[in-house]
Amino acid sequence: MSSADDRGNVNGRAGRRNGGTTVKEFIQKVQSCQPSLNDSLEGEIQAFLFKEDLLHTYDDLTKVNPVTPTTVLKCLQARYNVRVFYTHAGCTLVALNPFQPIPDLYSLDVMKEYHCAPQPQEFKPHIFIVAEEAYRNVQSQLAPVNQSLVVSGESGAGKTWTSRCLMKYYATVAASSSLVKSQDTVERIERRVLDSNPIMEAFGNACTLRNNNSSRFGKYIQLQLDRFQLLVGASVQTYLLEKTRVACQPANERNFHIFYQMMKGATEEQRKEWKMPHEQHFMWLPNAEKTIEEDCFHETLKAMIHLGINTERQRQIFQVLAGILQLGNVNFSSLTDESKPCDLEEQSKDFLQRAAELLCVPADELHTCLRVMTLKAGKQSVLKPCTQAECSMRRDCLAKVIYAQLFEWLVTLINNSICADSSTWCNFIGVLDVYGFECFQVNNLEQLCINYANEKLQQHFVAHYLRAQQDEYVSEGLQWSFVKYQDNQSCLDLIEGSPISVFSLLNEESRLNRASDAKTLRVRLEKELSDNANISWDKFSKVPHFTVAHYAGKVSYQIQGMVEKNKDPVPPELISLLQKSNNSLLHQLFTDKETEIPTTKGLSKVTVVSKFKNSLERLMMILHSTTPHYTRCIKPNPDCQPLTFKKEEVIMQLEACGIVETIHISAAGFPIRIPFRSFMQRYGLILKDPRFKSASHCADLEAGGNMLRQEVEKLLRMVLQHHVLNSRCHINEKHNSWAH
Ligand code: ADP
Ligand code: MG
Repeated sequence: MSSADDRGNVNGRAGRRNGGTTVKEFIQKVQSCQPSLNDSLEGEIQAFLFKEDLLHTYDDLTKVNPVTPTTVLKCLQARYNVRVFYTHAGCTLVALNPFQPIPDLYSLDVMKEYHCAPQPQEFKPHIFIVAEEAYRNVQSQLAPVNQSLVVSGESGAGKTWTSRCLMKYYATVAASSSLVKSQDTVERIERRVLDSNPIMEAFGNACTLRNNNSSRFGKYIQLQLDRFQLLVGASVQTYLLEKTRVACQPANERNFHIFYQMMKGATEEQRKEWKMPHEQHFMWLPNAEKTIEEDCFHETLKAMIHLGINTERQRQIFQVLAGILQLGNVNFSSLTDESKPCDLEEQSKDFLQRAAELLCVPADELHTCLRVMTLKAGKQSVLKPCTQAECSMRRDCLAKVIYAQLFEWLVTLINNSICADSSTWCNFIGVLDVYGFECFQVNNLEQLCINYANEKLQQHFVAHYLRAQQDEYVSEGLQWSFVKYQDNQSCLDLIEGSPISVFSLLNEESRLNRASDAKTLRVRLEKELSDNANISWDKFSKVPHFTVAHYAGKVSYQIQGMVEKNKDPVPPELISLLQKSNNSLLHQLFTDKETEIPTTKGLSKVTVVSKFKNSLERLMMILHSTTPHYTRCIKPNPDCQPLTFKKEEVIMQLEACGIVETIHISAAGFPIRIPFRSFMQRYGLILKDPRFKSASHCADLEAGGNMLRQEVEKLLRMVLQHHVLNSRCHINEKHNSWAH
């Protein structure tokens, strides 16, 4: 008569603290009072449970009464003030960023404590509870056994930190350390999996206004477990690297860490080889004087070695990066004669020469490629000199395409190094670290994609928890009033639906390759999507834009530049040039790339949004096939200050991630399930019957199933009669548990 809840409590959280007090404390309180539960005791318990000055002891926000943004905020603040950073919100874990290392919060001992506990849920809320719950679910043999840990939140909220914590947890508790690897050079798999982080962060993270170590890409990492539940490998999927940062860094922000790491960590010899003397200023290396923790070249190099990137390969990588830096200092003079290509500024000639040397391409060809474009009209090719702006665009494009390819190559290489053979692993735990909802002063295609991803994740969350719960209640024949939840399907239809949606119109415009894109797109959006209530326009605004009502709030997207960004064109001459490189790595990066010159008819190329939509759909399919666990990271202040809680900041994030609705959903349902046996052990003493105190006796009772149920019902009636538990509850036949 074992059940899901007996083994691992699949979605419920047996034994969670009750209304700010642990069950143990609660029982002690009951025991210390008079034997009979009288009215005064009831009042005392109520007061004990809901005192405002005890708000910080509420481990689950579903127990805050009433649940409003203000009360939830108060509770989180009270906890933050006493340095408690994790709080359950029903089926979600809320993680507040302390912005300073908290001693012993993530130590090996703490990991072990959570891992070895019979009921980790009874411990203080912690990311390790989520980690352990997922780990035990894999064992549970209840479909789906594969797990997904979805970590969300705005930039700087702590997603990447949390993901790293989760990876370290599994690398520790599921370490296959007893397996001796045959080659000495190959590091243990756990080490390699963890070492993928510094490499990906060096190449994919940057210092921004909102986070010194901001991930500029999304990541889903699957940790592969064998049949003994040992970590035997991993695979990484990345999403939408912000490659524009290579050639254009927003004011007061920086380029990707790796460039600064090189600048700061290179030896004199390397500086010579990479043509970067100390005094050289690089345009694409702004704010280099700022010292941040992430500027750690040697850690990156060490990780590279562990993952099998030898020194020769490293040399090639850094040469390419140095070449990109030189390109950034190449400027073009304004055009005087329109029939001639725009030429280089005098001081740029040396930079171009050095860029060519580092990229191992002929300098004269690089020079021409940046300044002359080839057009195809029918069967004929026509050469057209570029304007100053076009030249700069081609230069930036060259840098971006090289960097993006390099990043992709690194991810593939990491995967080759850490992915286990398919015959050796059978289950996985996936960790998703994606950018949270974004709403800036100016929003463009990047934000549209990011917010679209968040809509998809929100839909998955709602579908999973609400529908799954409601379906179960129906199947149990429970009296259940359906919770009205915000279904974001209409917003998703607006963005990605067919036949007509923002994406479909954007793609059509991108493929048509015609001038004045912004205007036509605006007209088409207004005309063809006017029926959808999720889109609106400010008729008086000079800048063409459209506003989407997302579940997390309204965002206005600027139309200007959107089509071009979606096309993301790479002049084929640039690709041909890179294919000629004598740097075997660079050559390899572009061998299979298309070099066909676009005709005036249009492009057949895959657009940015269609590629993103496809990769997201694949991700959603994986998520749907797993048991999800949600962690919402919250940034308590915009300045990344230690232990500083700004209410306005937090409330905005609570609203953006729909946490109050989440709590309502959880509180309206029966988020906590306690197996009969545990229930009897915990609350049995209220009956003052010695039978219920004994676990072994409970096991006897369990043998006669119905008997146990009857006892639980009897007990439940007593408990409820005295309002000791301020919840609705029911006896769950299917799961052999009591839920509230
Ligand atoms: P995100 O990935 O959400 O943009 P990060 O995970 O990079 O944010 O976190 C931003 C910074 O906040 C980290 O570099 C770290 O300094 C700090 N931080 C985040 N979570 C914690 C934590 N649990 N304990 C201590 N510091 C943290
Ligand atoms: Mg991050």
